[in-house]
Parts: sequence; C-alpha cells; structure tokens
Amino acid sequence: MIVSVLVEISMGKIEKTFDYVVPHILEKDIQLGKRVLIPFGNKILEGFIMQIKGSSDYDLKEIISVVDDSPILNEELLDLGKCMKEELFCNLISIYQAMLPNGYKAKYKNNIKEKYVDYIKIKNTQLAYEFINNSKAKKQVEIVQELLKNDMSLKKKYNSSLVRSLVDKNIVEIIKEEKYRINSGGMCEPLLKLNEYQQSAFVKIKNSNKDVILLHGITGSGKTEIYMHLIKEQLDNNKSAIVLVPEISLTPQIISRFQKHFSSKIAVLHSGLSDSEKYDEYRKIKRGEVSIVIGARSAIFAPLSNIGIIIIDEEQSSSYKQEHNPKYNAIDVAIKRAKYHNAKVILGSATPTIESYARADKGYYELVSLAKRANNASLPNVEIVDMKYQIKKGNTIFSDLLVENIKEALARNEQIILFLNKRGYSSYQMCSNCGSVIKCPNCDITLTYHKNSDLNRCHYCGYAQKVLKICPYCKSDGLKNFGLGTEKIEEELNKLFDARVIRMDIDTTSKKGSHDKIINSFMNHEYDILVGTQMIAKGLDFPLVSLVGIINADTLLNIPDFRSNEHTYHMLSQVSGRAGRSNIEGKVIIQTFNPDNYSILLAKNHDYIGFYNKEMKIRKKLSYPPYYFISLIKIGSKDYNDVKAESQKIYNYIKPNLSKEMIALGPSPTNILKINNIYYFQIMIKYRDKDRIKEILTDVMKLEKDNRKIDISIDINPITL
Ligand code: ADP
Ligand code: ZN
Ligand code: ZN
Repeated sequence: MIVSVLVEISMGKIEKTFDYVVPHILEKDIQLGKRVLIPFGNKILEGFIMQIKGSSDYDLKEIISVVDDSPILNEELLDLGKCMKEELFCNLISIYQAMLPNGYKAKYKNNIKEKYVDYIKIKNTQLAYEFINNSKAKKQVEIVQELLKNDMSLKKKYNSSLVRSLVDKNIVEIIKEEKYRINSGGMCEPLLKLNEYQQSAFVKIKNSNKDVILLHGITGSGKTEIYMHLIKEQLDNNKSAIVLVPEISLTPQIISRFQKHFSSKIAVLHSGLSDSEKYDEYRKIKRGEVSIVIGARSAIFAPLSNIGIIIIDEEQSSSYKQEHNPKYNAIDVAIKRAKYHNAKVILGSATPTIESYARADKGYYELVSLAKRANNASLPNVEIVDMKYQIKKGNTIFSDLLVENIKEALARNEQIILFLNKRGYSSYQMCSNCGSVIKCPNCDITLTYHKNSDLNRCHYCGYAQKVLKICPYCKSDGLKNFGLGTEKIEEELNKLFDARVIRMDIDTTSKKGSHDKIINSFMNHEYDILVGTQMIAKGLDFPLVSLVGIINADTLLNIPDFRSNEHTYHMLSQVSGRAGRSNIEGKVIIQTFNPDNYSILLAKNHDYIGFYNKEMKIRKKLSYPPYYFISLIKIGSKDYNDVKAESQKIYNYIKPNLSKEMIALGPSPTNILKINNIYYFQIMIKYRDKDRIKEILTDVMKLEKDNRKIDISIDINPITL
C-alpha cells in the first residue's frame, strides 16, 4: 500500500504531496485525513494522508507511524480545503492548519496533554465486605463503606497512604478518567416566548427556500433570541449548529446566554481559551458530545456532523475575514459547508455590510427584517456635537453637552458608557518644535505611547523603546504626547465628576477573567461610568445605561479605504445601540469634527436604508463592491527597488490581459509601506468576471513562482485595503 502525504510545512511557492510505502503492520490503520510521521530529508515530519494507492514505480521510503486513531480531517473538510485553495491562491497545508486548533499541530503538540483525574472504586466486593467485618483499621473501613455506597469517588478526597494500602490489599482500584478543562454544565432554562415580530421572522426564516437568510434587525430587536429558537428546532431534529460571533472579547454576554439555555450541549472555541482548553473543546466536538459550537472565525471549521444551521452574528464584522494566509472569509466557508449539509446560513446584523444587503435586496438572500426593539424600548435619541467650536472654547475631550448630560444621568442614578475609538487613533510622541512623529525603525508606522510601561511600542512588529526626551530629528526638547487614551479620559472624569469610573481596554483586560469581572461589576452597578474602546461596542446589554458618549467619531473616516463611511456607520450604530435597552429612555452624544458627513447624519437618524442607498450610489460611481469585485496582489521585498520594479513588471503583464469591465490600479505602496523591514506594494484589480480573474491570477502566480526577489500574495475580496 502506498499513501500520498501532504507535509506539515509548506515548501515555498510550489506545493505537492509525497508518496510513501505503508509497512504491512500499519495498513489496517490507514485512512484518508489521518496524520502520519514520515522521514523527510534528515528530519521526521508530520503529514496528512491525502490519497491511498496500490503501488508505485519508484523506490519509496516507509512511513514511520500513524498519529491519529480516527481521521483528524474528515472527507468534508479535506474537500473543503481543496476547494478553498482553488479560490484563495494559497497553500493547501495552510488551510488545513487553519482548520485545526494548535493542540493538533506538530509544533505545539508536545506541551498539550489530556487532563486525567483519578477516581477510586471497589475492585472486589467480597473482599470489601470481609474487610469491613474483620479489620480494625477504622479509617480504611470508613473509606470502604463509603465506596460501597457511592460506586466511584474522587481519589484526592482521601488520604493517599490509606488509599494505597487498600489498593495493595486488592480491595480498591484506581480508575483514571479524562476530564475536560471547561465544563459548562448546569441548568437548562427554557427559552423566552417570541413576540409577534420575532415569531413572524422565525416562520419566514423556516419557510424560506433560499440558502442564505439575512436577518436585519435593529440592536435589541431580539435576534439572539430567534437564533436560539432556530437552534432548538434543529437539535430537536438531531441536527447540530455553528454560531459564529466576532472576536469573543467583543461579545462576552452572548455565550453565557447560550449556555444558560443549552448547558452542556455547547463547545466554545475562541482566542480567550488556552491551547489546552481549545484542545479539549475540539475533542468534545469530534467525539460528538456536543451539538452546538460557538466561536470566532475559525470555529466555522468545527468538525460537527449533520449540521442543520450556521448562524453568523454581527455579520458585518471584519473579524470574519482572516487577514493573513489563508485569507478566507468565514461567511464564504459557511455557505459552502451549509451546501454540503443541506443547511441554512443565517447572517444577522443591525447594520449589514453593503454587499450583503445588496444581495438580499436583489433576492439572492432572503431578507427578514425586525424594526422594533423586543422589550418595547425605543431607539435612543442621538445628538451631534461639532467639536470644532468646542476646541475653540478649550473643551478638548468633553463637549459642554456631554458634560451636562453626564451630570444629569448621574443625578438620576443611571449608568453611562463612554466610547473612545482607538482604531486609527492612539497616543504618540510628536515634536512641537519640528513636527516630527516618532516612528518604528522596522515599520513605516507611528509608535504608540503606553503610559503604564512608559514605552513607545510598535503595534505591527512589537518593537519597543523607552519614551524619548530629546527629539532625534531637531535635538530639541519639544517632544509631547499627542492623542487621547482611555486612561486620560478616566483621569479627566475623576477630576470633573464624583462618580465611580471603570475602564475596559487592552491594558485592563490582559489578565484571564478580568473581562468578565469588569462587565459583571458594571452590570451590578458597582460603577457609574464605563470607559472603553472597541471592546464595549458590540453585544453588551446593560439595562441601566441611559447615556452613551462617543468621544471621537471621525477616526475611521480618516482611514484611506473606500469602506471608511461604512465602517463609521457600523461603529456609530453599534455603540449607540448600547443605550436605552430597557424601559429607561436612551440618549447618545456623538462628538465629531465632521458634523455634516452623511454616515454620521444617517446614523443619528437610525436610517440604515438611507445609508445603504446613498452608499450604493457612490460605490456604483466609483466601481467598487458590490458593483465590482476587488482582488489585491500584494508584493513584498526587503529591497525597495526590487519590490517597485517587480510590481511594475507584474502590472505590465496584467494590463494587456484584462478583459472589458476589468480595471487594474497601481502598483502603489500599501497604506503602511514597510512592515518588519519588508516593503510592500499592491496592485488592485476591479472586475466582474470571476473566471477571467482566476486565469489572470493563476498566470501571475505561475510566472512568479521562481522569482526569489519578491514574495507575492493574493487577497480575494479584501476587507481592508
Ligand atoms: P439583539 O440580539 O437583536 O440585539 P437580544 O436578543 O439581545 O437582541 O434582545 C434584546 C433584549 O430583549 C434582551 O434583553 C432580551 O432578553 C430581550 N428579549 C428578546 N426577546 C424577547 C422576548 N421574546 N420576550 C422578552 N424579552 C425579550
Ligand atoms: Zn523635533
Ligand atoms: Zn514595527
């Protein structure tokens, strides 16, 4: 027997499988999708069995051993990987690696082990009774009596030398049982009864004959409750479900809501878990012990069988697209898996992406809308403050209106959330004498000032330096810290108000569990004001919050990306959605330097459709998605001249090959020209013909496969430019 093996490491730009002979004794263990150990050059490597054949003409080496008892990748996932490879222009092995948690990867595996717990039980009942009746060892007798009642008991409850002597007498035996690190047992609370709007959405989803349903429901309209009802129905039919949520740190409450209702039927997969915990959760899934998987992007690969529904909450979140290889979008993968299982995909959002809404609008997706908040709460009243005037008055952080409203909310004993958008905005050192900004020596990006460590850090490569006293450019002492941090806001709040303030950002949530702690203490009204970054934008439900302040609404607008207005609209609606979620009326104050910007004005009016229509006109005019697809070719090199020249060559090759309705732009330096001492250029192609672009990109990759001067990667439908 011969097997073709895909080796764990990718070898440059080409990828192929290698054939090995299977020794007779191992033949019975061979199955597609299992891993084997193989000699490779002078190393021993792991690889996946991709094909089983009868014989070979060549003289082949033998495999050393079979790693898995059952296939680690089932046939569905093996085929899914091949299909993704065709579409994404990346290595197959990188896709298979992305499907598995670290505990299953050769380079991590050694430190991850199953956790066992020792139990003791009676081995020989007859001996046990004889012992009770005759022995004078009182303590040992007590143990035996207890075990006769209980069947099995935790070993660590008892004195170990007593246990040992009972084991030596052959009365008691020790049983090792595997124990999962996370156990979500407990009560199964019944689901809420759906209100009439939810019920009709539920029925419409059930009866739809489309593969994908877009559930467009304003924040608080009860989408999560509908998800749970849909899932319950699938479980009742012995089917399973995947629920994707954005990075879990952004949506901590949703998981506990699911756990309350479905208890131990859930496995959770997200980056907040340790590798060992993920390894355990993954095994629960593989063993068929759970029927719901909730997790971030990569949970879409969960090896559930018999999937009935895949739910993607906050479908507009950019976290569903992986930004490094394989650059897959979990929504596309979901649609593929759903097809295989004959399941439905539900995309849920208060503010769907323009692309998704357009598909629903055109009838490719079923559109189901919820326009009312579930518990009769109304949407908050939003006011916009023009910060240009406030700055002139010396109000750099809080406008008069915000201060006034905070005071009033505090007086009413209600809670307040203040949101600082950190994306594209952070503290940095700038020279007030010469205007220079302190940048990373490896990357073309401003270093971020961290107050508690007093360091300037690069958020791309991790470089850190002590805060500078003297400007390296003009040698003056004019360096100042610019930008606004959550710490600074906290400080100012403490000066201005007599209120209990808590902060939630990367610094205060680095310890495990600190996240939940902050949320719970705010929920219990131990604090009046929560100050935070993106972490508090999504999915949180605090009934006592009546005021939300958005300190800086502009930062996303300033990022050079055709989606900057869309991102601004998403962010403002999400943050606004945290206000007035119960019977208290909510208010939102947006501080901005661009009070006339359409995404801000339409977010103020909660007018998603208005925003969609306006944005679609602009996209059409500029030939952007959803009217055109986009692909990026990213070219990198240590040498600036090489990357520039080779990019131009690639562009020159593409240009005459374009068919009509195809546009190539570039080559141009990427938004951040240099990362980790590699310079990057990109070529953007806009197109409508998916087949033609595939041919062109395939040719480009073939042409460049031996080019050692550059690295090249392709991003199909990129989310950030
Ligand atoms: P969304 O996911 O759309 O933001 P949620 O499902 O979180 O909305 O619902 C918002 C609030 O309304 C939650 O506090 C939830 O418990 C409550 N809620 C939702 N559906 C119902 C219902 N049918 N009956 C009573 N309360 C509900
Ligand atoms: Zn200077
Ligand atoms: Zn750097």
